[in-house]
Amino acid sequence: MLIDRPEHLVAAAAPKGTRLPANDVAVALDRRLSRETEGEVLFDAASRGRYATDASIYQIMPVGVLVPKSDRDVSVALEIARDLGVPVLPRGAGTSQCGQTTGAALVIDTTKHLRNIVAVDPDSRVATVEPGLVLDHLNAQLKPLGLWFPVDVSTSAQATIGGMAGNNSCGSRSIAYGNMVHNVLGIDTLLADGAAVSFGPMKEASGRAAAIGAFVRDLALRNRGEIEARWPKVLRRVAGYNLDIFHPQSEKPYTDDGSVNLAHLLVGAEGTLAWTRTLKLKLAPLPSAKVLGVVNFPSFHAAMDAAQHIVTLGPTAVELVDRTMIDLALANPAFAATMRTALRGEPAAILLVEFASDAKEALVIRLRRLVELMGDLGLPGSVVEMVDDAAQKSLWEVRKAGLNIMMSLKGDGKPVSFIEDCAVPLEHLAEYTDALTEVFARHGTRGTWYAHASVGTLHVRPILDMRRDGAKKMRAIAVEASALVRKFKGAFSGEHGDGLCRGEWIEWQFGPRLDEAFRSIKDVLDPHNLFNPGKIVDPPKMDDGTLFRFPPPEALVPYRTIPLVPVLDWSAWDVQNDPRTEAISAPGTGGDSTGGFAKAVEMCNNNGHCRKFDAGTMCPSFRATRDEQHVTRGRANTLRLALSGQLGSEAFSSEAVRSALELCVSCKGCKRECPTGVDMARMKIEFLAHYTKRHGHTLKDRLVAGLPDYAHRVSRVAWLANLRNHVPGAALLGERLLGLSAKRKLPTWRSDTFWRTRNAGDFASAQATIAAARAGAKAAVLFVDTFNGVFESENAIAAARVLKAAGYTLHTLEKGRGHHCCGRTYLTSGRVDEARDRVGALVDALLPFAEAGIAIVGLEPSCLLTLRDEALGLGLGDRAVAVSRQALLFEEFIAREAKAGRFDVAFTAVEAPMLVHGHCHQKAFAAVAPVLDVLRLVPGAKPALIETSCCGMAGSFGYEASHHAVSMAMAEASLLPAIRNAPDAIVIADGTSCRQQIAHGTKREALHVARVLERFLPSP
Ligand SMILES: Cc1cc2nc3c(=O)[nH]c(=O)nc-3n(C[C@H](O)[C@H](O)[C@H](O)COP(=O)(O)OP(=O)(O)OC[C@H]3O[C@@H](n4cnc5c(N)ncnc54)[C@H](O)[C@@H]3O)c2cc1C
Ligand code: SF4
Ligand code: SF4
Repeated sequence: MLIDRPEHLVAAAAPKGTRLPANDVAVALDRRLSRETEGEVLFDAASRGRYATDASIYQIMPVGVLVPKSDRDVSVALEIARDLGVPVLPRGAGTSQCGQTTGAALVIDTTKHLRNIVAVDPDSRVATVEPGLVLDHLNAQLKPLGLWFPVDVSTSAQATIGGMAGNNSCGSRSIAYGNMVHNVLGIDTLLADGAAVSFGPMKEASGRAAAIGAFVRDLALRNRGEIEARWPKVLRRVAGYNLDIFHPQSEKPYTDDGSVNLAHLLVGAEGTLAWTRTLKLKLAPLPSAKVLGVVNFPSFHAAMDAAQHIVTLGPTAVELVDRTMIDLALANPAFAATMRTALRGEPAAILLVEFASDAKEALVIRLRRLVELMGDLGLPGSVVEMVDDAAQKSLWEVRKAGLNIMMSLKGDGKPVSFIEDCAVPLEHLAEYTDALTEVFARHGTRGTWYAHASVGTLHVRPILDMRRDGAKKMRAIAVEASALVRKFKGAFSGEHGDGLCRGEWIEWQFGPRLDEAFRSIKDVLDPHNLFNPGKIVDPPKMDDGTLFRFPPPEALVPYRTIPLVPVLDWSAWDVQNDPRTEAISAPGTGGDSTGGFAKAVEMCNNNGHCRKFDAGTMCPSFRATRDEQHVTRGRANTLRLALSGQLGSEAFSSEAVRSALELCVSCKGCKRECPTGVDMARMKIEFLAHYTKRHGHTLKDRLVAGLPDYAHRVSRVAWLANLRNHVPGAALLGERLLGLSAKRKLPTWRSDTFWRTRNAGDFASAQATIAAARAGAKAAVLFVDTFNGVFESENAIAAARVLKAAGYTLHTLEKGRGHHCCGRTYLTSGRVDEARDRVGALVDALLPFAEAGIAIVGLEPSCLLTLRDEALGLGLGDRAVAVSRQALLFEEFIAREAKAGRFDVAFTAVEAPMLVHGHCHQKAFAAVAPVLDVLRLVPGAKPALIETSCCGMAGSFGYEASHHAVSMAMAEASLLPAIRNAPDAIVIADGTSCRQQIAHGTKREALHVARVLERFLPSP
């Protein structure tokens, strides 16, 4: 069954590309695709909803989704779509900002399988690639050859080459290398009628390509006067079709020799003319040397005015960061230190000026020239010179994160992209930006400026509330901005394409004759409007509220969220903001019917950053599956659709949402790495609480959640509990009854728990510990969790020995015949009330120590960090806050004490190499560096960090039979191979489940850092 907002989507008056075909057509399409292709065919409402948005303000439900396995699947799908009269929407990472990747069509997603490098010829510097290949992945392969593809978009970690060509994307270094159109040499296509046609140099064209070329040449010739009169004469113009290939108007010729390349007609066509099968790309030598001059300006105007002079020095990039962005970066722990390296005093704006070539010495001379130029312009001493590569790289990362930093604003007002890439000639940049800032002020908002000063394309997004009066203001601002663009002879669409928000401005920019010429190009290549209708030709109005992700009250079906009483405290998201000052209202005042949960979910703006594969953690399940369903964005979209009733009335606690969250390993990678702070691990707890309330708990969930409660008792009969691992058939039975994988050995039960075997003399009473602290002596509380207390007591005992050796008065909690627990196992099962009881009791037990300023030292990252994270959202009040402030991981505590000169142990030397794997929660709380720091206290230690995402075990996740394959895929991505490649290394992993995954996957024992330090303690 199809569930949509059919009232307006099926209506005959709806704009092209937004009208859904009848249900029986969709059903036939689904059936035929499933039968005739090998790809994944996704027609359920949740899957379609995950493909209904891109990084724009728009949302249109597609008819269905195909994730093709091969080129053949695509050509079969096009044939079926043609037969049934259903449009087709090609899609890469879906990071477009203008809605070009949304449509009531069959979406074909290239990213999972169509991502190969077909060929690279280093001599001629040409690569041929499939459309779903991600830019960073291509460049990683090219690096050893000393080459790169230089259209370096900010979304390089997820943007696909097919999507980049579709949008005629432009990178920060376009002043040196040009846009996509300057760097595509050929495109092999499937046309709407199924013909396979190669587009490349006009002089080599034959058959169909030659005929199309001849038609477009005649069209261009007939419109030559109009092209000369109306075409913006700037490098950054991406609107419409590139009808100027026969008579280029760009500041930079499209080809090196001035010849015509027909592939350029398809670049920037936004998937409206043909399906791209492969692309031939022009590669560039990787510059071996770069320097950066950061120019600090006393006023924004001065920075804008200086850009035209700076470009005369021949930089490869000149990028703006304004004061708001500087302040946002300084307020962000991940970026503050880097940002400070770029500043001289309190500048109103900075320009990052990069020079690149083969020799650093020559570049230093050019940097000197920049310093001289700034002196001549009246700004002596304004340049921070960065010659060091690492420093430059860090600053570029901050600049690349610019937009994302800005998007983290809470409340319904958001920085909206619709005039964010107008391009004006450099001599008018200062005047243009001043005038546009005034426009914003007149409409009660403001914008933050950043990006490509070198080419007159500055990004700016005014803050608008699209759920209320945003559409009206958007149009008013666009009208005034367009007048400025015309006055300064610029381009209205200079980087991100036309899509839904700029389509209607194509005619404004080029005039009716050229608009008609664009239509005739579409008619020749795609006469039946198969490809991405409603983009470039016949676009809807930019402010058609029915197409918004958050339709305003006057829309037929406005955006509304369901009533929901959340189990966790989300009030920090339930706020509104002031668009002029960005001030946030008090928590709980945002008017959210879900207490802020929906607004936390809606923080995802679909930028797709979670689709990355870099050194960070986010998102391990996507890395293993490459499924939109299993990436943070897909999960956030599913939750948003469910919370707003778009998937049906009971959708929030439905199977559709459960399966979207199923492979989320709660690693918290997104909490740290998602630019808008989407914390899916926390959202999963909220969801599970509601889901299990409706559907109940499984036996396995009960066993996992209750583990801390029964662990003590079971450990007395450890031999019995361990039979599952030894008696033939028991594991298989366990899999059938409980769903725990028979391929895994479960953790071994032991009777020698920490509480039974510890040396009582090592621990002081509570009073003695508090008294010691008050007297200025070294004191700490060792919080021993279920895993290190019951299954690996040697870790807790090792930690106690190390702390005692360093002279700490040490206390550990007692609790009758059990032990205190952080409640995590209950949280991960959605049993929030039980978790609250456990954490509450733990917090009460720890409070006297916290109030005495005594550190609470824990061993298991996920247990200890619960005190700093989830415990604060359970309504436990100030006592939880007080405890959280003293809660430290063992390594954090020792690193802190060593730095303060209070940890002085003469460890013996180590010779073996050390390999460290960080637990995901350690990474999320920036607690991996302390592991390396404390290991370095051992003479001779050179600990190396393995660049890993999640190990894949994640508590009980990897033990579940249904997760075994994906769990192993996560581990095999980098962790297990790195360990196998270092047979002599001591492997350090602080997470219990990480150690188990390493043992299962490599048969090697990984150690908690406490045991490594214990191993090198001096003899008593
Ligand atoms: C935070 C952020 C920063 C950005 N920074 C930049 C930047 O620095 N420079 C820049 O230029 N853009 C930028 N963008 C916009 C966007 O990331 C780029 O345009 C990117 O190149 C799009 O790649 P994609 O794979 O996501 O394409 P998609 O959005 O999936 O698709 C883009 C277009 O290409 C078409 N297409 C995709 N595959 C095919 C195919 N096989 N055949 C035919 N047509 C196809 C689609 O139909 C669509 O019209 C940014 C966006 C965000 C959210
Ligand atoms: S979850 Fe975060 S990183 Fe992913 S698309 Fe949404 S905002 Fe971007
Ligand atoms: S918690 Fe981890 S697995 Fe879950 S969405 Fe976030 S990054 Fe992905």
